[in-house]
Amino acid sequence: MKRLVLALALLTASTAWAGKVHVHGAATLDVAVEAAGLTLSLDTPLDGLLGFERAPRTDAERRAAEQAIATLRAADTLFTIDPAAQCRVASVELVSAALKLGPAAAPAKDDGHGDLEAEFTFSCQAAPAFVEVGLFKAFPRMGRLDVQTATPKVQRKLVLKRPAQRIELAR
Ligand SMILES: [Zn+2]
Repeated sequence: MKRLVLALALLTASTAWAGKVHVHGAATLDVAVEAAGLTLSLDTPLDGLLGFERAPRTDAERRAAEQAIATLRAADTLFTIDPAAQCRVASVELVSAALKLGPAAAPAKDDGHGDLEAEFTFSCQAAPAFVEVGLFKAFPRMGRLDVQTATPKVQRKLVLKRPAQRIELAR
């Protein structure tokens, strides 16, 4: 039994990637607020988006992947930002080796796990006071977001758990 526990611990450790732990159902979201913009960086196991973590093999899986990608690209629907800041989507970049997304074209890992990184950039007229995150609504398998916010003055960490979706951005 002890040996089994050790093996599991090693297995879990090996799935840590880029300094972030790969936990199904959880994801990290970094929110950076600038004077005239907002950048949200999401890092999630593919499981939270798709229920599988490799290239799609069936038509149903291909449809699921296309739908997830379309949902992420529609950043103005996925995120509701303080209307007073008058933000507009500037860019959306998606990177996932398993889904062959992004410029890196890094080979997919062969440990059975896969991730997706997304960077959403908005240009704004003012610094937004809050952002509402639609990830839990869009992706039923996601349940927890470890959030880090950074404004020119303050950095904060918080955990957003389903069904919460609002992140206050301290100024
Ligand atoms: Zn995984």
